[in-house]
Amino acid sequence: MHIRKRCAVTGGAGFLGSHLCERLLKDGYDVLCIDNFYTGSKRNILHLLNNPYFELYRHDITYPLYIEVDEIYNLACPASPIHYQNDPVQTTKVNVHGSINMLGLAKRVRAKIMQASTSEVYGDPKVHPQQESYWGHVNPIGRRSCYDEGKRCAETLFFDYHRQHKLLIKVARIFNTYGPRMHPQDGRVVSNFIVQALEGKPITIYGKGTQTRSFCYVDDLIEGFIRLMNTPDSFTGPVNLGNPGEFTILELAEKVIAMTKSKSELIFKPLPEDDPTMRRPDITLAKQHLNWEPKIPLEEGLRKTIDYFDDLMRSGGSAS
Ligand code: NAD
Ligand code: UDP
Ligand code: UDP
Repeated sequence: MHIRKRCAVTGGAGFLGSHLCERLLKDGYDVLCIDNFYTGSKRNILHLLNNPYFELYRHDITYPLYIEVDEIYNLACPASPIHYQNDPVQTTKVNVHGSINMLGLAKRVRAKIMQASTSEVYGDPKVHPQQESYWGHVNPIGRRSCYDEGKRCAETLFFDYHRQHKLLIKVARIFNTYGPRMHPQDGRVVSNFIVQALEGKPITIYGKGTQTRSFCYVDDLIEGFIRLMNTPDSFTGPVNLGNPGEFTILELAEKVIAMTKSKSELIFKPLPEDDPTMRRPDITLAKQHLNWEPKIPLEEGLRKTIDYFDDLMRSGGSAS
């Protein structure tokens, strides 16, 4: 008889987590979604609730959790600057206390555990593009630090549990990812620009718009997660997962305006504190160890994301 592996996805009701739960169910796993709905939403996983292999558990991972699982994907953490700066102490707690609890759980049940780390560990990078060997340039006391330093500490904890307790770990450094189910009001650039363009409101460029980001479509990223989890035990990462295509924020605004045929004008607002000036992943390691690279070009991913937000707004869901 085929025995299904049990996976826990913390943050499973969020943007990335809901896509991951969906993919794991398709791949034949038993999925336990653990979320306290801090930034996630039941709407993201409504379509999974009737699946007998899907379970939803409302829980805050800063508190201990005693369950039995084979694999843990640790995604729980607010991800957009607006959300993670709203309660910065809680952001550090979820990254530090939350990671310790999930590592303690993995240690007790001997589960393999993957951490959703971030390109923010490189801070405002002085090396471009960013390779995993770069230690980063992070302000330890600024407004982004709760997230950047929280995620750096989580990486430290993962590697210490690996060295001290022989835990099987995988660390993914995720670069800006976009797609359907992004929160319409979490202030991230792709969702902001699309919602503004569809509503005919001004497109808000922070600073001069010359800063760059590299945008990865969600399906590509999830494929990277699955491949990383299934690498040989000797491969821990950290490994960059992102799309190396690099665009200025102004270029992104122009693309969104053209694709939505919007009449929105551009307006310029102050650049947030410590906003990185450039970001692009070097994905050589992911190509070598995961045989992975993104397949979906920006225009194709933006088309799917614009259609999602268009439907959401037509159904009256834009404000919630
Ligand atoms: P999201 O805000 O949509 O999802 C985060 C989820 O975690 C939400 O469902 C939220 O309710 C849940 N959560 C928060 N605190 C929790 C807690 N204490 N206990 C249980 N659940 C909790 O964000 P996302 O974009 O899906 O990001 C998922 C993960 O990927 C995060 O760890 C984020 O740091 C990381 N990441 C995302 C990106 C990106 O571009 N989307 C880039 C780098 C890293
Ligand atoms: N923990 C948990 N679930 C478990 C095992 C542990 O949530 O199944 C938490 C528990 O709160 C503990 C933390 O993980 O404090 C770290 O566990 P570890 O065994 O590493 O350390 P210790 O129990 O000695 O503090
Ligand atoms: N940004 C912008 N207008 C917006 C939202 C964001 O110009 O309405 C900029 C922001 O200053 C940053 C980039 O877009 O330079 C990416 O921002 P996001 O919050 O999406 O991600 P992060 O800064 O965490 O990479």
